[in-house]
Amino acid sequence: MRRNWATQSLSYPIRLPDVVQVDALRLLDVSREVINATVSALWDRLDAFGMRESTYAYKQVTAMIGSCDPLGDRQWRCEAEQAGRILRAQAERKKQFALMLPVLCQGMILPRTEKKAAGKNRKAIKQALADLRDEHSDGGSGVELQSLIEQACNFYLKHGCFPDTYEEMQAIPVLKVGVLPYAGDDGGEKGQAYRLRLDLEGRSCFFAFRFPDEAGVWAGTWTEPQILLPLPDPVVECLQVGVALAPTLREIREPDGTRYVVLDFIVEIPVTEPAEWKHVRRVLGWDWGVRTLVTATVLDVKGNQVAPPLFLDSGCLDGIQAHTRRHIDRLNAKVASLESRRDHFPEGDPRREPAMRKLAVLRREIACCWRKYSARNRDLAHLAANILLLLANVWGVELIAGESLKSLKTTGHGRSARGRWVHWRNNSQIRGELWRCLRYKCHLAGIRLEWQQPKDTSHTCPRCGKPAHTYASPSHLSTAVDAGAWLSCAACGWNGARDYAAAVNIARLGIAFLKQHLQTGRISHPYMTETEKVKNSASYIGAGLALRLPPTSPRGRLIESGEMYVNGWIKAVTLRSALPQDTMLRLCG
Ligand SMILES: [Zn+2]
Repeated sequence: MRRNWATQSLSYPIRLPDVVQVDALRLLDVSREVINATVSALWDRLDAFGMRESTYAYKQVTAMIGSCDPLGDRQWRCEAEQAGRILRAQAERKKQFALMLPVLCQGMILPRTEKKAAGKNRKAIKQALADLRDEHSDGGSGVELQSLIEQACNFYLKHGCFPDTYEEMQAIPVLKVGVLPYAGDDGGEKGQAYRLRLDLEGRSCFFAFRFPDEAGVWAGTWTEPQILLPLPDPVVECLQVGVALAPTLREIREPDGTRYVVLDFIVEIPVTEPAEWKHVRRVLGWDWGVRTLVTATVLDVKGNQVAPPLFLDSGCLDGIQAHTRRHIDRLNAKVASLESRRDHFPEGDPRREPAMRKLAVLRREIACCWRKYSARNRDLAHLAANILLLLANVWGVELIAGESLKSLKTTGHGRSARGRWVHWRNNSQIRGELWRCLRYKCHLAGIRLEWQQPKDTSHTCPRCGKPAHTYASPSHLSTAVDAGAWLSCAACGWNGARDYAAAVNIARLGIAFLKQHLQTGRISHPYMTETEKVKNSASYIGAGLALRLPPTSPRGRLIESGEMYVNGWIKAVTLRSALPQDTMLRLCG
């Protein structure tokens, strides 16, 4: 099989005790300089980092360059490891840049007019991204490609032409916050830069690290590791079945400027083997909703529906996020006006001071808002992934089928072009994060995950497989609309929430994928339009539950019964299903 199912590494940050924080920060500051100097020295050999012979990045770096650090070979190897990781990530990005280069075009730039400054043509960028997406991948690189295109457009706006090479557009990356992976050292017992001793019974570990003192002198000899770090329960549980890998020392920088150091404790644990393909009996299909975040349902391989549809609604979170975004926009406007006030006066003029003080406060607040904003997105993605996993467990699912990230559904939110753009980008970030979470959680749980072709899944009747229209609601069946919430099949009369129909269709695609794989041994992802393949493999026998969905016209009432909040943090995420209330409680509690 294509993947190595054997192990998975998990990382947990543990804050170092206050007494060693100053020393740890000093160490990270010193290493950061070495790391930045190394990246800078190897920047013109970036392409070499596109290929790798060893998982260790430091081997590549130390083969090219002698020690930059007089502080011992192992300390240098750890720094080289981090420099190598940065260069490898940049080399990957450069490869993506090569993919993107041919599609860059003038059309992506809106020329300056009398009323407006030159800007990006978002529609053209979106189209180019859609064209770029590889037919045969889960689309996970979409977010990266988008950021590259935007970066290239920014370059154009500044220089009047697109960049010819990646390096022309990308400045040499600078590590701004300290990171020191101890992967280059000799392990917890024999390490020369760090030492680590586990005490599982005491649910703690002892840690030591070498660092320069205030005069820059490094302690010479090793003593028994002295710093006691209590281990959180999940770490102890992982350690009981797995092994501790070399940890990483990492700086956290709060928006208000506070800095502290955590030890990323990394444990490699064995993962559950997934069921063999021939033993897959049940498939969970889920779809990104038009109105809901995620809709899921479960079919068996014969096409019988075994679970009622489940809708996960991000509800008022959208509103909260939009509010934060607007707040950030307002703060940015204030920053711009303060900056122009400051620039009335020449450098060094004391009259610049008041504006500069206010600017510092504003910038901190903006950083704080962004952090909240992306933390909420991440939380939401984790929550959605956990719920899908939970459902898979409850219904004994061996295969999860999800729409790939290639679809760029119109979401119908936000009136202005800018609003739609922001919404879409926000959505694609949550989607990327959800897909990433789901992938590693499935890997851990031994559940297979396969992406499916999104095309036509929400405009096909899940029962007869014929193309079907969508409508605003069951009471508006006279006018078909493109992104309607209700699907109604003219051929066989099937009616239901469009997201739900899509979830069933994606499960059917998963079944078709499975059967094809069992017959031919090949991995290929069928399209909805290949009706014979899909129909022969799973004629959906969705009587009962499906048809009893009540009308969905008012948003938030897809189903009256079984509505409950699954998470207390924000009361924003609502899980709805036709399940009786007590089953839902069991599911979520
Ligand atoms: Zn039909």
